[in-house]
Order: sequence, then C-alpha cells, then structure tokens
Amino acid sequence: MPLYGAVELGGTKTLVAVGTSPTDLSTPRRIPTTDPGATLGSVVEYLNQFQLDSVGIASFGPVELRRHHDSYGVITTTPKPGWAQTPVLETIGNGVEVPVGLDTDVNGSALGEGSWGAGVGLTDFVYITVGTGVGGGAVVGGRSLTGLGHPEMGHVIVTPADGDDYPGRCPYHGVCLEGMASGPALEDRFGSPGSDDTEATARDLAAHYIAQGLRNIVYTLAPQRIIIGGGVSTMPGFHDKTHAELTDQLAGYPPLPEHEQSGFIVPPGLGELSGLAGALVLAQEAARTFQS
Ligand code: ZN
Repeated sequence: MPLYGAVELGGTKTLVAVGTSPTDLSTPRRIPTTDPGATLGSVVEYLNQFQLDSVGIASFGPVELRRHHDSYGVITTTPKPGWAQTPVLETIGNGVEVPVGLDTDVNGSALGEGSWGAGVGLTDFVYITVGTGVGGGAVVGGRSLTGLGHPEMGHVIVTPADGDDYPGRCPYHGVCLEGMASGPALEDRFGSPGSDDTEATARDLAAHYIAQGLRNIVYTLAPQRIIIGGGVSTMPGFHDKTHAELTDQLAGYPPLPEHEQSGFIVPPGLGELSGLAGALVLAQEAARTFQS
C-alpha cells in the first residue's frame, strides 16, 4: 500500500498530511508560514516520520513550473518577506529523499477536485478561490494548465460597477478582479462581515465582479464547470448569485443550456481539503514519473 505526503503551502499557514485519498488523509498538521527555513524545516520533519513513496506540494506563487528551467520549483518574485527566490521543491526534496511533485495551490485544488470532488468525470474545469486574494487554476484536457508562468485569473480586467468608485487594492493594477472582489477589498467598502443587509450587499457586489471574471474564463477556456471556494464564497447564496450574474452577463451567447443549469457554478466538493487532495494527486504523479 503506497503512502503519500501532501503539502499545501499557503501565504499565512501551511498544511501537511499523509494518506492516499481525502478519505484516509491524516489530520492535517497546521504550521504557520513564517520564514522559509523554519516552515519548510517543520514540513520535512513532519513528513520524515513516515515511510513515504512520494510527496506533492500545492504552493502559493508565483512559482516556476517549467521543468527544464534553471529555477524550476522556485517561488520567484513574491512580495511575501523572505520568500522570494525560495527553492521549495529542492528544499523539501532534499529533506524527504523521495520524488516530489509541485504545482500552484489553485491548480492543486483543481486537481484534487478532479480526482475526488466536484470535478470528477470532467476533463475541462476551473477552480477559483475568492478570499484574501483571488486566484484560479484550470484543468484542460485532464491536465493542469501552465505555460509561461501559470494562469493568474485573479488579475483579469473588470469594469467598475455603477456607483462603485472604489479604486481597487491590487498593488499592480488597482482595479482588477482581485483588486475589486477579494475579501480585503470588500472589507474596505463594507467593513467586517456584519449585518445581514450589509453582507448581502457585499455578496452581490462580489458576485457581480466574479461573474465578470468568469465570463472571460468561459469565453477563453470553455470549462464544463466552475468550482468556487475561499472565504468570500462561503457567504450565504454566493454561488447562486454568481451564477445568476454570469447567466445575465453571458446574455445567451453562445447558446449553451449548460451555462444556465445549476451545477455549472458549484462550491468545492472537498470543502477545505481541495488543496491537500491536489497535493496527493501531485504526489501520485511524481511517484509514477519516477518509476517510468
Ligand atoms: Zn491585479
């Protein structure tokens, strides 16, 4: 029976667990993401308690994913203090001495959902997280989508809603999807989640912007389904409202009835475990690649 290590490396916290699927995954160990030495050291220490076949890492980015690039497996230009140019893959690989697979956190979540969650049976779908930031991963033809860098769906262009003069809080673009619809961007306008009325207004505005982003994604990637997770997406009615907004914005073109059916925009099937499940998929791939 194989055993895999799963690492979800996040901007504020890192989760690590072992198992073969979400159903037999160990209780995730939560490690604060502080400096690379301490955080990755704790990850390796945890993993080395087990006899593992391989390890998968779903990491925050930007991360170099081109296998033949000199910087493969390195977190590159992150503004997170101390983490720029961190060789995540090499550090963990040298620590555990088994094959290690790596992808972005959101691609990882998409892969996990594809194996065990809301993407089962689909070849082309998207996973979006709407929380502290906005990010998206895509599975296209059964594989996670990377190229020059990796998709940064949170930074697609959006048009300010009528009456919304918020300047946006993306450090690069001001007004972009993340700049207008992330949790902090909503808090700037509406404060912390409070009264039901305010929360419904915040949710509706977020849904409006997310739907703008999804419209671009629908027209460029033609996904069979879009899975939305992250803190903002847990506001009551968020998925239904986003679906209604998207249906409205697509305006019936192209005429695909699937766009209008419930089940096109859905929450993650694995709840909080999408990322770790994706790391298991990456570990499985790493083990297969190593054997072949
Ligand atoms: Zn941006």
